[in-house]
Amino acid sequence: MTRSRLPALDLFRLGAAVLVVAIHTSPLESFSPDLDFWLTRVAARVAVPFFLMVSGFFLAKKDQEGIGRFLKKTLLIYLAAVIFYLPMNLYAGGFSPTDWLRGILWEGTLYHLWYFPALIWGVLFTRLLLHLGRRRALPIAAILYLIGLGGDSYYGIVSAFPVIRQFYDLIFSVTEYTRNGIFLAPLFLLLSAANIRLQPPLAAAGFCLTLSAMSAEAFWLHGAGVQRHDSMYLLLPLCMVCLFSLLVGCNSGRCRTARDISLLVYLLHPGCIVAVRGIARLTGTWPILVENSLGHFTAVLTLSAGISGLLYLFRPLPADPKSRSWREIDPEALRYNARVLRQAAGPDCELMAVVKADAYGHGAKTVASLLQKDGVHSFAVACLEEGIALRRAGIRGCILVLGWTDPRQAARLARWRLTQTVADAAHGHALSKTGYNVRVHLAVDTGMHRLGLPADDLAAILEMYRLPGIRIEGIFSHLCVSDSLVADDIDYTKRQAESFRELIKKLKDRGISPGKTHLMASYGLLNCDEPSFDLARAGIALYGVYSDDAPVYHRLELHPVLSLYARVASVRVLSPGESAGYGRAFIAERPTRIAVAAIGYADGLPRCLGVRNGRVLVHGVACPIVGRICMDQLLIDVTDVEGVLPGDTVTLIGRDGSEVIRAETVAEQCGTITNELLSRLGVRLPVVVRSSSSSAAFLKSLFS
Ligand SMILES: *Cc1c(COP(=O)(O)O)cnc(C)c1O
Repeated sequence: MTRSRLPALDLFRLGAAVLVVAIHTSPLESFSPDLDFWLTRVAARVAVPFFLMVSGFFLAKKDQEGIGRFLKKTLLIYLAAVIFYLPMNLYAGGFSPTDWLRGILWEGTLYHLWYFPALIWGVLFTRLLLHLGRRRALPIAAILYLIGLGGDSYYGIVSAFPVIRQFYDLIFSVTEYTRNGIFLAPLFLLLSAANIRLQPPLAAAGFCLTLSAMSAEAFWLHGAGVQRHDSMYLLLPLCMVCLFSLLVGCNSGRCRTARDISLLVYLLHPGCIVAVRGIARLTGTWPILVENSLGHFTAVLTLSAGISGLLYLFRPLPADPKSRSWREIDPEALRYNARVLRQAAGPDCELMAVVKADAYGHGAKTVASLLQKDGVHSFAVACLEEGIALRRAGIRGCILVLGWTDPRQAARLARWRLTQTVADAAHGHALSKTGYNVRVHLAVDTGMHRLGLPADDLAAILEMYRLPGIRIEGIFSHLCVSDSLVADDIDYTKRQAESFRELIKKLKDRGISPGKTHLMASYGLLNCDEPSFDLARAGIALYGVYSDDAPVYHRLELHPVLSLYARVASVRVLSPGESAGYGRAFIAERPTRIAVAAIGYADGLPRCLGVRNGRVLVHGVACPIVGRICMDQLLIDVTDVEGVLPGDTVTLIGRDGSEVIRAETVAEQCGTITNELLSRLGVRLPVVVRSSSSSAAFLKSLFS
């Protein structure tokens, strides 16, 4: 027997959304109240349990973080819906502050919104139950469902007993119904996660049978007039197991469109009910569009579906950052390196994260935000624009501009609370005259002869401290051979440090508080035994790489933060003698399979890498880059790798399986240092943050 393969679960969401619209419009009311009762209070009651089960089904396959993302998304949708329906709430009036709180926490602020808090509480509560093990969680959820049943369809029967009545009074003082995240949701979430699979004929027969029995149950309760509400029936879980099993049995894949449209219909239909009434009144079609229940249902459904379809058509479709080539940032590695460098700097020294040049090609906003969350308060950039960009991205604390800024830009320095480096005496005087009272750090030249006032010109330095219109909050110098272990260079570094230290002492002796003092960059921390002053300006080491593979005095174990990936665009076969790429620089010597990767020198990859023995990883195998690197593409010899296809991932820097390509190796092949290689990685490469388990830490602590 061939079974039809459909994204059945997602498609059924559409049907379930139509049933929910039916619940709120009673389509058959005008024709047969009994039939309408059956449709909207019995059959349509499969809709919400179905939504819960389909959520449980997909959530069961997710990790903690995936569940965290799901909850966050659900919460955002819920809050957006609460705001959307605020005008309707205000128009209806009569909501006290406690009603609002209860509404938001449990029942939703409009009649259909109860589903969202029920789902969120249900998922959280179910995860707690699962700590008792699956075998215990399911019976407990079933008992909770039975308790819920007593407060719902069976209330009239069970409330005959005073004790039980008091018990439910207690529940109803907190929440108006028992159809919520505690009594209703856990059972359905667990039932779908349990993945019960019945043979399709059995499931189909079971569904018909249980639905019929549930109908009988409902009519009996309805007739006896014992229902307080009609969301829950004794036979509903059994009926759902059959229905869900049937759907899972013919499910294949997912259908985003059905998902999004069903959600929109669910969210929007109460608004459409109001709109249809308005339209009916204005156009004199009240008898057709409102009084006739089927006309009403049809109008509401058409309007909801129409608006949902339009919204779906114009939904935002942002680019997928991993569609061509991208930089991936490992936040754990970044945090780890920051910790290691803090330790190396010592207890009295604070880390100043150098995030100039787009954080050495790692994405300054991303890196600075991650570090800020990790407790870093000081950042350094190269220029004014970089500083402003960080402030706009919400970075607080000190942002030091390490380079020269035209004093005519002083207003911007002040407005964005940036700290400017005083590049020399003339710069200091010019900044002082602007009248903006700019915060500055004094640069002192101890031997690099780039920026700074000469360390031995005490008079000029003292004059800076007397200038009005600038606030000197720090003083620093920069080492120029701290990356070298040659004896002369070590001496030079020592003299630089000595002269900086002496200067600070002289200032203090004259009663001047020099502010934050700092000298070391990455290689200062790695190679010098000097004390590290108040701040350490770490750049390259923060990113987990060394400038090159030269030896260092304190080799810290650092973790590379950046990986560089590109997609395979096309694969082709060359016969011996055929050439590939510009200048025919590659000639095949054997039958050769060439993969084209969608990354080139315009993305910041050095063009010389092609002719300098550059390699990339494809399916975990190192493959040579061949021919000349183009502006937007490069060629890889993948003859020795089976089954390379367009869309596959090529690793240019980073790990694939057991193989690693280090930034240090690539830099060396191109005759440069990692600082240059990484900082040139272009703006065309989106920055993607690798999902880390620790960003879901709060959820983890809740559940595990
Ligand atoms: C770039 C820079 C740094 C950071 O140097 P790394 O070697 O990458 O740690 C520190 N200080 C100044 C003045 C810089 O220009």
